Amino acid sequence: MRQTLDVQIGKNCNYQIDITDSTFAKLNQEIDELSADKNRLIVISKKVHKLYIQYFNFKESELLILPDGESQKNLKNYLKIIEKSAELGLTRSDIIFAVGGGVVGDITGFAASTYMRGIKFVQIPTTLLAAVDSSVGGKTAIDLPYGKNILGAFYQPEKVIININFFETLDKKQFMSGIGEVLKYAFIENSCGYRIPQFLFEFLTLGYEKILACEPLTLIRMIEYCLNLKIAVVSQDEKEGGLRKVLNFGHTLAHALETITKYKKYTHGEAVVYGMFFIFEWAYKQGYISYSYYRLSLDLFEKYGFKPLSQKYSSVELTEIMKRDKKASSRKITFIVPNEKKEVCEVMLPPKKVREM
Ligand code: NAD
Repeated sequence: MRQTLDVQIGKNCNYQIDITDSTFAKLNQEIDELSADKNRLIVISKKVHKLYIQYFNFKESELLILPDGESQKNLKNYLKIIEKSAELGLTRSDIIFAVGGGVVGDITGFAASTYMRGIKFVQIPTTLLAAVDSSVGGKTAIDLPYGKNILGAFYQPEKVIININFFETLDKKQFMSGIGEVLKYAFIENSCGYRIPQFLFEFLTLGYEKILACEPLTLIRMIEYCLNLKIAVVSQDEKEGGLRKVLNFGHTLAHALETITKYKKYTHGEAVVYGMFFIFEWAYKQGYISYSYYRLSLDLFEKYGFKPLSQKYSSVELTEIMKRDKKASSRKITFIVPNEKKEVCEVMLPPKKVREM
């Protein structure tokens, strides 16, 4: 099965996203077709290389294998991609492929955006999180000692190919990290400006057993629904001037939790789930949502085995981190808050209030 989605950003940028369960032989053929008559560089995660290289006919010389982990989304590896591109003699008519999770996608996208002022690149996400989130929408970046995603660019890929067969080797923690971002879309659906109802909340509620069992057609459908919503948002607001902020639902606390634990304790999606639990409880207590919607939401988290955070962290420290977040304004911290069923709104709060939360 293959679903193809079209992304149109502004007048001049459009690309396709394929979501498929076709064979790796077919993926290999598509990569060859996209790079026919071109020089190419394939940036691939070390783990993905080890697991999957047998299925592809990549030449040693066109490969750059990057170590795994958030700490590798750094300047050194960014320069490695630039140097390897130069070594291979890539020009702006050539192409780079990013094969891996969000780390490889983000760093390769950023390198592609700057190499010769921009070279084509294709995202081939191999984690669920990268498939439903980071590979689409054009945010690319690397981390610096001063913070996460400090150096980056909005730069759209030439194509995104999502092959769900990659997910078979994801460990449970990584798969559930992707599910965390999937749940986010269910809670923001009506704020995304997509014309056709996806009923993602209901789909995830009814289909959780098939999703957790990785039933291929259900996974493809789920990714399609999420990406329809993401595409609707980024095509209206590529650079996060307004609407795109809805995608940050759960992320204010998530980023602070990831920072306070130095990106070692929680996956990104897991931290987002804790961020959503937190803001749902606050929204209910403040009267933004009814008890029945609060309860329905908790039920959905529970179906997927998620529980609220039990570990305690210093509210002073968390608030300090949130103040430094690039999404914070000079005096206030921004939260995306549920305010209706499947709808969210932006609420800016002074740090003192956030500490009390
Ligand atoms: P990741 O890239 O670190 O991958 C997670 C782990 O899964 C790694 O150890 C990797 O080796 C392994 N892995 C990858 N594919 C695998 C496979 N098929 N089988 C087995 N193991 C596999 O993490 P991620 O969760 O994919 O992405 C997180 C990154 O994405 C963060 O850096 C985050 O900032 C970024 N992100 C970016 C955006 C965006 O819009 N650009 C959005 C969300 C997150």
